[in-house]
Amino acid sequence: MEPSISATDLRHALTNGLPPTGVRSAVGFLRHRLTEKTPQERATVRPPHDTAPRQESHHPKPLIACEGPGPEHLFRPLDDETHCGRCRQDAAWAAHTAKYPPHGPAPVPELGPTVRSVR
Ligand SMILES: [Zn+2]
Repeated sequence: MEPSISATDLRHALTNGLPPTGVRSAVGFLRHRLTEKTPQERATVRPPHDTAPRQESHHPKPLIACEGPGPEHLFRPLDDETHCGRCRQDAAWAAHTAKYPPHGPAPVPELGPTVRSVR
């Protein structure tokens, strides 16, 4: 059965203009009605919704050379960044440690004799 035929169209095709003398064969009648009276021409195919072209920014950008230190390496920027993720992370760490100097090595507890108050 055509999926594009609505229930209203189907009912209309089956019940409109029934012969007053009755129907001899229900199966033959239905077959005739379904093949002859269904509004095929009205079943227009609707275009799919999502036909809008994708945004230009959704295309992946080409690989570019990172401007960070070290040997030249390529990366694919997501926006307009000039450094790869690793270099930006390193730069962020450098900026962080410059602003918040890391503590020296953790003080080692003295291994001398344990001081107890014996009294
Ligand atoms: Zn880099």
